[in-house]
Amino acid sequence: MSLDLTPVEEAFRRARIAVASHTDKMAKAHATWREETATELVLANTHPVVRFADFTRGEESTIGADWLWWWVGQDGTSFGALVQAKKLTFTEADTAQVKYRHSKGRQFTDLLNAAKDLEVPAMYAVYFGGLGYRSGWPCEKEPPGCDECERLTITMVPVLAYSQSPTPAHAAELARQYGVPLENLTDAETWWPTLPLPTVPLATDLRDFLIRPQDGAREVAQAVMRLLITFRSRQFERATPETALPADSITADRVFTDLPDDRLHNGNRYFEHVLRGLRRTPPGYVLDIVNGNAPPTWLADQVAGVSVVQLPARGHPKPPVKRPRDGPAG
Ligand SMILES: [Zn+2]
Repeated sequence: MSLDLTPVEEAFRRARIAVASHTDKMAKAHATWREETATELVLANTHPVVRFADFTRGEESTIGADWLWWWVGQDGTSFGALVQAKKLTFTEADTAQVKYRHSKGRQFTDLLNAAKDLEVPAMYAVYFGGLGYRSGWPCEKEPPGCDECERLTITMVPVLAYSQSPTPAHAAELARQYGVPLENLTDAETWWPTLPLPTVPLATDLRDFLIRPQDGAREVAQAVMRLLITFRSRQFERATPETALPADSITADRVFTDLPDDRLHNGNRYFEHVLRGLRRTPPGYVLDIVNGNAPPTWLADQVAGVSVVQLPARGHPKPPVKRPRDGPAG
């Protein structure tokens, strides 16, 4: 067993191992598995570090499988994301794919619109499944199966990374390139030393946030932001130099309001998209869920459920180092 894991790190590791075990057993039985089952395994294995409210109550859901996740730090700083579960599948020729554009792309647009309404970024939880299910993909090492590959069992991908309508096969490649294991969002592995910052003026506090180690909810938001900054750096769009306050709905509760207007190829303001989810205090419905009270009905009409990750107080950001590889599972 690895040393020095926080309860949150333990919980997400346990969840990932449970999902990998399930998908691999189903693959061995030549049976399919469902995203909903994987999500239930995540919730069951992370409780009570993750408190949740499931609004579907076992009913056939018409609203899709979008869950609202909030990471809440001890000081109240919180980061939210609207998460849609997707599974990695394989064509008959064994090409990995992520089918994310159901209903001729309407599902994709609906997800972005719902995230905007909730003032959080949109993320995919792409279940890569265990190494048995994906026959080692995406590891190119011989033999496959390094620790990072196992962590990719549950891979979080910013939805904006799919904004140029990639094919399902390209979407799988993008998940590998711009995805991060769920458990890495709350541990030091998300840190990497250089970041190709866009050539736009950045407020000092925002710049520090992007390039220095962070703690709690800020660490999660930073990890997502860094993925999109890296994605942006590989587009040949001119940088948008203006620093523009978005006209729509700035809440007083945001950690950062002075955001660059820099955009992705398709016009998405990625700073605004991600950092609208970083707040000084959690929304009221998050407190309802933590306290075991019923969340508001308007929310239950919009999402399948809400999960709240209660982050421990480390008191200081983790140092920017890669920790030693974990031992074998179990
Ligand atoms: Zn590997």
